[in-house]
Amino acid sequence: IFNKNDKDKGVNVQVLLRCRPLNEDEMRVNTPVVISCNEGRREVSAVQNIANKQIDKTFAFDKVFGPASQQKELYDQAVSPIVYEVLEGYNCTIFAYGQTGTGKTYTMEGGARKKNGEFPSDAGVIPRAVKQIFDILEAQNAEYNMKVTFLELYNEEITDLLAPEETVKFVDDKSKKPIALMEDGKGGVFVRGLEEEIVCTANEIYKILEKGSAKRRTAETLLNKQSSRSHSIFSITIHIKECTPEGEEMIKCGKLNLVDLAGSENISRSGAREGRAREAGEINKSLLTLGRVINALVEHSGHVPYRDSKLTRLLRDSLGGKTKTCIIATISPSIHCLEETLSTLDYAHRAK
Ligand code: ADP
Ligand code: MG
Repeated sequence: IFNKNDKDKGVNVQVLLRCRPLNEDEMRVNTPVVISCNEGRREVSAVQNIANKQIDKTFAFDKVFGPASQQKELYDQAVSPIVYEVLEGYNCTIFAYGQTGTGKTYTMEGGARKKNGEFPSDAGVIPRAVKQIFDILEAQNAEYNMKVTFLELYNEEITDLLAPEETVKFVDDKSKKPIALMEDGKGGVFVRGLEEEIVCTANEIYKILEKGSAKRRTAETLLNKQSSRSHSIFSITIHIKECTPEGEEMIKCGKLNLVDLAGSENISRSGAREGRAREAGEINKSLLTLGRVINALVEHSGHVPYRDSKLTRLLRDSLGGKTKTCIIATISPSIHCLEETLSTLDYAHRAK
């Protein structure tokens, strides 16, 4: 088995910006729009004029997707090239980063499966990636296997979203062994006890997504969690059998991580509300550390603080080295979100 990340060095971080459209409620009350997207120039501007305060800031990204952008467009332009890398044996990660309600889950998961099993036009990155992987491998008549894991990280604790239903109650039960992040002794990490599902068709992925989301909701209610504070990580691992020109058989292994991050408002506000600052800090250790890790990778500074959070430990084999990382920053066009939008633009912009 070989994995190309072991060999090559170099950093590849791409940052895209997506602005959602105003929703029906916002349109009904004529919510002012303060964001303009210039897809051609790959720029986003935030403009607001109030009597004694004027904001006019422009940020550049690798790609910009305006409010009219469709799921397929974003997928074809931003994600599809990464899937080819994964099939070549690289580990890649796609993050959705942004304020709650700006379209992270819509972008990653998108519309639900249709009753007749048809692929919905508003399907997001996860089902499209799975479908593309199957389509390519089938066209190549490749011998392969594909497995997925789906977990949630909340307050630095892991919940397995694919574990059998009953186990959710025991997450907090000290007598049960909690799911643990373990070092594998070779510089990597693995999650002990994590459920892996073998998938054979693109449609199965919908069942897995539905199961995971249902589990997420149950866990939220039972344990009184706030969903905007959790990260979810959907990982696809593919093994492909190949023959070298010399006729030697080998297994190529690639991995794609699709990460729906906690709402970014959690970090920007944590400092402000003093009483809750410590709790919020703990909850968002992963979000803050991710920013530091990406900055360190982009700036080629020596120390990359992977070990400072569970999220970055979990993704360590897929961040840095010759991996591709794509951050999709999501924002709202509304005047009421301007402050959060500016901090998202700033975080995403600095990740470059
Ligand atoms: P988040 O996961 O960031 O909290 P959601 O993905 O749940 O946000 O999106 C909030 C709402 O906005 C959902 O109803 C979603 O369908 C809608 N939405 C988000 N982005 C878009 C978009 N690009 N086009 C149409 N609707 C969107
Ligand atoms: Mg969401």
